[in-house]
Amino acid sequence: MKNIVIFGAPGSGKGTQSDMLVARYGFDHISTGDVLRAEIKNGTELGRTAKAYIDKGQLIPDDLMIDILAATYDALPKTAGVIFDGFPRTIPQAEALERMLAERGTQVHAMLELQVPDEMLIERLINRGKTSGRADDNAETIAKRLEVYNAQTAPLIAWYDKAGLRNAVTGHGALEDINAALRAVIDNL
Ligand code: AMP
Repeated sequence: MKNIVIFGAPGSGKGTQSDMLVARYGFDHISTGDVLRAEIKNGTELGRTAKAYIDKGQLIPDDLMIDILAATYDALPKTAGVIFDGFPRTIPQAEALERMLAERGTQVHAMLELQVPDEMLIERLINRGKTSGRADDNAETIAKRLEVYNAQTAPLIAWYDKAGLRNAVTGHGALEDINAALRAVIDNL
């Protein structure tokens, strides 16, 4: 049972690559963005709270996010492993994930970082916005999300590097080549 964090800026391809890894290895997949969008769609209290942040391109507060993550994780079958996509996004979230997994007798086995140049991220997100129906895939919110990523999330690169868990992979080019690079890391765990 492996716990794998897939990491990268908005638009770096975390969701696409996670889907390919799920198909290959049978991992469970936690996308915190998907969890929140489902709550919004279902009109829950949590969904209403989350929407206010998401629409502004801001992060949901850590305490709330950490509770959601733990509940989602505990509900999974966890047979082959779990891919964490979109979590952690802050250092307190990474510390909480470490604690949560330790309490359950396990740990993060690898962080896979998808590296994509900024101008490519913006282009991808603008294009995705044409079909995704996501309220946050518009030019203004995209700029805010990238700013939030650089300020609050990018420090996790050094954090995971120090923990000896970081594996950086080129996140542009052919999807299959990117996936092969990720699989090479996973097959070595
Ligand atoms: P994503 O689908 O991963 O791009 O997430 C969409 C939005 O959901 C983000 O811009 C945040 O507002 C919110 N979100 C998702 N995951 C997290 C997280 N781990 N911490 C805080 N906010 C999050």
